[in-house]
Amino acid sequence: MPIDATAPYDDQNIFAKILRGEIPNKTVYEDAFALAFHDINPQAPHHILVIPKGPYVSWDDFSASASDAEIAGFVRAVGKVAREAGFVEPGYRLLANVGMDAHQEVPHLHVHIFAGRKLGPMLAHD
Ligand code: 5GP
Repeated sequence: MPIDATAPYDDQNIFAKILRGEIPNKTVYEDAFALAFHDINPQAPHHILVIPKGPYVSWDDFSASASDAEIAGFVRAVGKVAREAGFVEPGYRLLANVGMDAHQEVPHLHVHIFAGRKLGPMLAHD
C-alpha cells in the first residue's frame, strides 16, 4: 500500500526498525548520516537503498526539514556508495518515490540505486 507522504513520521516503519537494529539488513555502507543496504526484493542486478539516519518520511520532508549537514551528508553518502560500488563508469539510476502516485511503500526516505544492466526508459508505461 502506498503511503501518504504528508503524514507524520511513524517510528514503527520497517526502515526505522532497521536503523535501530531490530531487523537485520545486508549493510553496504554506514556513516553518521546514512545507512546503505541491499534491497530485499532487487529490481536490478544491483539494487541498494540509502536512507538518512534521521526521521524523515520522504524526500519532501527531508528537503524541507533536515539540517544542511544532514542533507550534505546524505547526498555525499549516496554518491559515495555508487562510486565505491563501481557504478559510475557503466552508469546507474537513482530513484526516490514520494507518496501515493509514486507508490512509496516505506514511510522513511530512501533513495534506490539501480545498476548492473541497461536500465531502459525512465518511466514504465501502463
Ligand atoms: P518504495 O516503493 O517505498 O520506494 O520502496 C521500498 C523498497 O523497500 C522496496 O524496493 C522493497 O523491496 C524494500 N524493502 C521493503 N522491506 C524491506 C526490508 O525489510 N528489508 C530490505 N532490505 N528492503 C525492504
